[in-house]
Amino acid sequence: MPEQVLTGIPTAPGIAIGEVFLFRHDEPEFREFCILESRRDEEIARFEESRGETRRQLATLRENLAHQVGEAVARIFDAQIAILEDEEFIGAVLDRIGRDGLNAESVVRRTAEQFHNKFISLDEELFRQRAQDVRDVGRRLVKNLLGTGDRTVGPLDQPAVLVTDDLLPSDVVHLLRENVQAVATDLGGAASHTAIITRSLEVPAVVGLKELTRLVHSQDRIIVNGNSGKVIVRPSGPTVRSYRAKLARYEEYQRGLAGIERLPAVTLDDHRVALRANIELPREVDAVISHGAEGIGLFRSEYLFLARNRLPSEEEQIADYQQVIKSVAPHPVTIRTYDLGGDKMFPNHPHPAEANPFMGWRAVRVSLDQPLLLRTQLRAILRAAAAGPTRIMFPLISDLQEVRQVKGYLEEVKSELKEGGFTLQSEVAVGAMIELPSAAVMADKLAREVDFFSIGTNDLTQFTLAVDRGNERVRRLYRPLHPALIRMVRMTIEAGHAAGIEVAMCGELSASPLATMLLVGLGVDELSVSPVAVPEIKKIIRSMSYRDAVALAGQALELDTADELDEFCREEMKSRFADLPIWFSG
Ligand code: PEP
Ligand code: MG
Repeated sequence: MPEQVLTGIPTAPGIAIGEVFLFRHDEPEFREFCILESRRDEEIARFEESRGETRRQLATLRENLAHQVGEAVARIFDAQIAILEDEEFIGAVLDRIGRDGLNAESVVRRTAEQFHNKFISLDEELFRQRAQDVRDVGRRLVKNLLGTGDRTVGPLDQPAVLVTDDLLPSDVVHLLRENVQAVATDLGGAASHTAIITRSLEVPAVVGLKELTRLVHSQDRIIVNGNSGKVIVRPSGPTVRSYRAKLARYEEYQRGLAGIERLPAVTLDDHRVALRANIELPREVDAVISHGAEGIGLFRSEYLFLARNRLPSEEEQIADYQQVIKSVAPHPVTIRTYDLGGDKMFPNHPHPAEANPFMGWRAVRVSLDQPLLLRTQLRAILRAAAAGPTRIMFPLISDLQEVRQVKGYLEEVKSELKEGGFTLQSEVAVGAMIELPSAAVMADKLAREVDFFSIGTNDLTQFTLAVDRGNERVRRLYRPLHPALIRMVRMTIEAGHAAGIEVAMCGELSASPLATMLLVGLGVDELSVSPVAVPEIKKIIRSMSYRDAVALAGQALELDTADELDEFCREEMKSRFADLPIWFSG
């Protein structure tokens, strides 16, 4: 088969050439085998058991949905429940187990595919829906036959390129970096949590490749270019040779960064930028230190919840926070309170289905509606803060009222702790994430309420431009380097500085080498990036002058469109930093 080139969104740098390890969350793996004639009744009984379990699961789903969003939507499940009673479908399965003597999983998958293909060929919307339903029911039956719940990617037992439909927060807990040469996924936009997770693995990654899992087979050869977003399936000999050369050059560039971790992020004319790291789980602190970040600018604490599949207790939180704080001291750790909701759902947590979850019940809104959750977390942070410099940050702040409310809870918790005999050892600074346009517009007022700001460009971009950050179909429109965004960033920095507070940035734009001079020139005090991005950003900061950066930012602010801004940053950066991997590794 000829090579195929796909282009997705590059989310973690590097180039890998390897073999595919294919994993789909919705398609359990199993072997096909024959059943002795004497045991076929047992196999039929096994199938009937899974049919009963599937019926129960679908009925529960239907009931929950009816409760949450209404009867009309819940009826979708009636069609699936009906398939379990459909004489033609069930008859065919039972017949084949008895006649062909194959294991029930194989028979169900084959029969469901056959019905799916028949319906799809009828080319009418109603039948297309039925095709989808029969496939879903087939998958659920197979899962129940195997006794597996929703699958998560486990550790790989030999080196391979992980090709998967999606990488979920629940996967990241089990998936170790070992043996993962690179990651390529069907789903995910530039600032989706899939993208963020791939970055934390520190292997080359490309997301949003749409149909990739349908185009490859396990053990196919594949190239993943996490610098350009290109993925080449079954590459030809000359392509492999050309990528080996790019890889060699990239490795040479990486070697050139050695030693930089011990140096500060300071410009040639002595302007200091705090270069910190974003983490999801405590185990990433080693990478924070080895890559030379000066502390943690964003600890996405909700991953402590996702990693356990349940709420961590106060003591568990303290242990996790303390481990991180102690490891990076004397540098500070900024702990963001839970940002649950959006695409970070805890599967067993009661959470109503929402049409627009990113704009729904998430982040600080959940915390304010569940004061116990918030107070426990605040108490854990304050108690852990005795271990070293700690800051608290609140996500998705939309106005002053919310800030005042969360600060009210913080003061209450502090008083309780003091009354309980606990000595608060240090002042814990309080920050607001500026990631909603309303917060950017009100930044002057908000600045009087908090000790620092951190600009979350991932959400700020999606809400300013009304472009879903996780949807690869609108990725062309997702442009953090947009004049509207840059103006908001400037506004926020000016407002923060006028009030004498520091302004950080922790969205993915902070890690873009194209934007480093612009952001520093706009006056950002801290950049917080994934650990793997620290050396490259530090090298740029150490090789530029602040004076030039301010001039460059001034020119950038005059530009009219995202294309102009992008081209301007490319030209300026290319003329100054000709050796960056973005230029040679396309
Ligand atoms: C952001 O929105 O830019 C941000 C850093 O937060 P998260 O990606 O966790 O939403
Ligand atoms: Mg955010």
